[in-house]
Amino acid sequence: MAIVTLQLAGVKSEPEGRPSACPYCGSTILQKWGKGQKPIRDTQVQRVEVHRYRCTSCGRTFRHYPAGVERADQSLRLQQLAAIAWALGLSLRSVAWIVGLFGICLCHMTVWRDVQTLAERVRQKVRKRRVRVLGLDGLLGEVRGEGRGTVVAVDMGTGEPVNLVEIDERDVEAVVAWLRPLVEEMGIQVLVTDDLATYKVIAERLELEHQVCDFHLMRWVGRALKGLEKELGEEYQGAIEEVRRIVREKPPDGGHQLERIWESIRPLWRRRKGPLEAVHRFRMLLVRLAENWESYTLFLKQEGVPRTNNRTEQAIGRWRVPSRSVRGFKSWEGLEAAFWVCNSKVA
Ligand SMILES: [Zn+2]
Repeated sequence: MAIVTLQLAGVKSEPEGRPSACPYCGSTILQKWGKGQKPIRDTQVQRVEVHRYRCTSCGRTFRHYPAGVERADQSLRLQQLAAIAWALGLSLRSVAWIVGLFGICLCHMTVWRDVQTLAERVRQKVRKRRVRVLGLDGLLGEVRGEGRGTVVAVDMGTGEPVNLVEIDERDVEAVVAWLRPLVEEMGIQVLVTDDLATYKVIAERLELEHQVCDFHLMRWVGRALKGLEKELGEEYQGAIEEVRRIVREKPPDGGHQLERIWESIRPLWRRRKGPLEAVHRFRMLLVRLAENWESYTLFLKQEGVPRTNNRTEQAIGRWRVPSRSVRGFKSWEGLEAAFWVCNSKVA
């Protein structure tokens, strides 16, 4: 069950303090240049005081607004409220109707603009950020009842979303082409993903370090070993138990320990009737674990690298649960905007 926390901007009725600098030339020597009233659309405040300033360097005048008010005739919190109500599943017209109950007149196209404005605000805020550790996860986004491959990228330092793109996560070329500029702009060094084989290739191609989500690892290894245990019987019990211990405890030389187990298990040719194929699968499992050992244990060596990809899944859940429970999206733009709006406040 996803819990959505609403944190709306406060709205003040008059500006606090002075503007720090001229928005045109950056000069800090400003003269007061009168004040006026501005009517706004908001749930509580009907009009606010706006101060004018004149820049002594470039001679231009500009307005200084109270907190929560900008050029638009809606307060910031009304814009946020409208956008979030839509993102949680109401139609544009329903949102317009609901704010109408509070005596505020918004047409449905204004609500759609509010959605896009808030989405863009979150996107802009994220764009300039440095992100060292990036979480990635793929899912199916639904537009007009049709599933579309979607990849979500999250800053593992803060849990905030960084990007959402219409790409199938198994398409290595497309994911690499999309990620490469982000890696450069944001200074990404580490990827955190589930154990899908393509992510290993993607990390190698981009020369990034890689942490495979430990939750996913433990789950698939646990299942595979349980199956093998049944098929292989007593004789292999000790080896299976040993693998289980290594994967759980993650000793620094775990990769070598796994290799030694692999060496100790001889492939069965025609020597006996036994479970030949299961032995082969056990050996392949050992190879896979030993080969990827570095990406299972990066979190033990590097600070700031999380053990799991939970934060990425949470960002997806914040958006996906409300949007899926109520309706699909009519357009990719709507799906994308809802993602940013749902993730607009991360505690
Ligand atoms: Zn100026």
